[in-house]
Amino acid sequence: MPELQIVRTVADLRVAVAHYRRSGASVGLVPTMGALHDGHLTLVRSAKLDNARVIATIFVNPKQFGPTEDLARYPRDEAADVAMLKELGTDLLFTPDVGEMYPDGFSTSILVGGLTQHLEGISRPHFFTGVATVVTKLLLQALPDRAYFGEKDFQQLQVVRRMVRDLNIPVAIVPIPTIREADGLAMSSRNRYLSPAQRKIASALPQIMHETVAELRTGLAAAPILAGAKGRLHQAGFDRVDYLELCDETTLQPVPLARTPSRVFVAAYVGATRLIDNWPVI
Ligand code: AMP
Repeated sequence: MPELQIVRTVADLRVAVAHYRRSGASVGLVPTMGALHDGHLTLVRSAKLDNARVIATIFVNPKQFGPTEDLARYPRDEAADVAMLKELGTDLLFTPDVGEMYPDGFSTSILVGGLTQHLEGISRPHFFTGVATVVTKLLLQALPDRAYFGEKDFQQLQVVRRMVRDLNIPVAIVPIPTIREADGLAMSSRNRYLSPAQRKIASALPQIMHETVAELRTGLAAAPILAGAKGRLHQAGFDRVDYLELCDETTLQPVPLARTPSRVFVAAYVGATRLIDNWPVI
């Protein structure tokens, strides 16, 4: 099996990247919070195709969790993650601890305006500042040519793109389509929280999203279609729907019907587990 170098400090990461650069290698970066599944691995596979060297990062970023969220119980399994990354021929895993990323006195945050105000930004007010801050740090620490982000977290992808553009960070952001289970449920580390009965309920989400997309493609008004879909989610056993909206793909603002490139965005709870997804309409 190929060597996977594991580093836990920024200094060691920089030494490794400098070595890659001296040999003329291109570098791809795949930021994750670990508990890896095939969605993450698809990002790594894409990075392998485009770059001579691939760095994966695992850091469960406390700044993107709210006080009542699942930071303490977020799944962690470094041994399994390392085995998967090795198998794919990842060159380096950067997995710093919290003190390495946020030493005492850390006081800078990156706030991306506009795009972060809606959807996830309403339910999770500190989330995108946490994401933008940690992604900026990771990009500056590794200085990759390309960084890979999943469309599963579409709003996050757009926020990262905007931030990289606004701050002139010299990296290409590569989007990767959502990888799904056989029944269409988007793969997510949080799916591990679901009991078998809850997993069954969760499988209604892709089904209802699929029907909703078909209805929206007729060009009819979105509001009644979305209200119907919300009702069906409740009927299927979802406990709460945070949002279910048709939004323009670029501005992420709600649109009354699908005319420009747009997606349906959803966040809904099965028990205490919050699932998010988005599907392109046009
Ligand atoms: P996370 O570990 O959840 O922070 O995700 C790390 C990266 O993997 C993010 O860019 C996610 O958008 C991406 N990702 C997570 N799940 C999927 C999926 N099912 N398909 C594609 N990308 C994903």
